Amino acid sequence: MTKVLHCAEVVPGCAHTMEGETEDEVMQQASAHAASEHDMTDISPELAEKVRSRIKDE
Ligand SMILES: [Zn+2]
Repeated sequence: MTKVLHCAEVVPGCAHTMEGETEDEVMQQASAHAASEHDMTDISPELAEKVRSRIKDE
């Protein structure tokens, strides 16, 4: 089972997909991607929770 997050679920139009073995791994990738691609360096707890809820098992 792989944890998958499609960035478009959070940032419409972005084709980037993050994959990892655990939610935490995906969240780390997501924060790095958000910072480098979307200038989102300050992730609030609410946003982190929203992102985490979009992670799916594939
Ligand atoms: Zn993105």
